[in-house]
Amino acid sequence: MSAPLLPPKPEYTALCKASAVIGADPMLIQAAGGNTSIKAGDVMWIKASGTLLADAQAKDIFVPVDLPDMRHAVANAPPRADQPAEFALVRDGLRPSIETSLHAVFSQKVVMHAHCIHTLAHAVKKGCETMLAAPLAGLNWAIVDYVKPGANLARRVAEVAKGPVNVVVLRNHGIIVAGDTVAQTYGLLSEVHARLRIDPADCAQPDLDALAALTTGSAYTLPDYTPLHQLALNARRFQQATGGSLYPDHVIFCGIGATALSDGESPDAACARIEATGAPAPVFLIVPGKGVILRRDATEANRALVRCLADVLLRVPAEAELSYLTDAQNAELLNWDAEKYRSALNV
Ligand SMILES: [Zn+2]
Repeated sequence: MSAPLLPPKPEYTALCKASAVIGADPMLIQAAGGNTSIKAGDVMWIKASGTLLADAQAKDIFVPVDLPDMRHAVANAPPRADQPAEFALVRDGLRPSIETSLHAVFSQKVVMHAHCIHTLAHAVKKGCETMLAAPLAGLNWAIVDYVKPGANLARRVAEVAKGPVNVVVLRNHGIIVAGDTVAQTYGLLSEVHARLRIDPADCAQPDLDALAALTTGSAYTLPDYTPLHQLALNARRFQQATGGSLYPDHVIFCGIGATALSDGESPDAACARIEATGAPAPVFLIVPGKGVILRRDATEANRALVRCLADVLLRVPAEAELSYLTDAQNAELLNWDAEKYRSALNV
């Protein structure tokens, strides 16, 4: 019998600790998004799909994968690299993250990938590559265009993550940083986060009485996270919020873009209008000029991603032009065929 596969302590312990801190910060991670990894020889330990980074100290959330095999697949057979379970060295039920390939392409030992709000507030803007030059000056950084998370994105990242490059901005997605120790990598993530920091815009007052009246007896209610209302209270921000989907986890957890209530429409009528297209009930509805309402049965993950949208857009200037996912990019995230997608758009 071969020796059990053990993670590389003490760095692994440090990774668990740093991952739990990152995962508990909604400005860096929402729901099961983001991931961290550490390499030891031919083995890479990566966060398992569907687990929470915040649980990194309380539970075993890392899975060992065959690093050379994964690197070979990214370079030569991307569809296979999108089946990360095939590369797991321990078959105990946990599956490696779909973003395992993204970590494998870095030569550095430690990789951290976050859906950082401050990064997103830059990376959803048109022309963000020039706007990032000043705040990231002096760092070894690069940027890649949006590609669906998985092996094709990993290939794009591999093209730029060469030599000293250890910070890669993923347009309409997030950030990846890499280093040779956990402390160095976490320090770099914190530095990038601080350099890209944007304070939220001033807030207007929502019409809570109108929202309460509107939601009485409906499947929707008022959200606990009050900055959410800002999506409805500024005409330009409303346009930005309803203009489409800005990053993949929004699509996964909140559906495509955002739905606004029409004049005189009830929340349940708006919900029925969307469901009639074959799309799921909207997790949230924007009531123009009044505020935002949330489904009563919204999950923690739904809530985290609705919050994320407000946190990002409150840090984007009202006049900024945003870059949205295309129809095809939305559809591929939901594994929808084009027909269903078109029907859902025509609402
Ligand atoms: Zn990601």
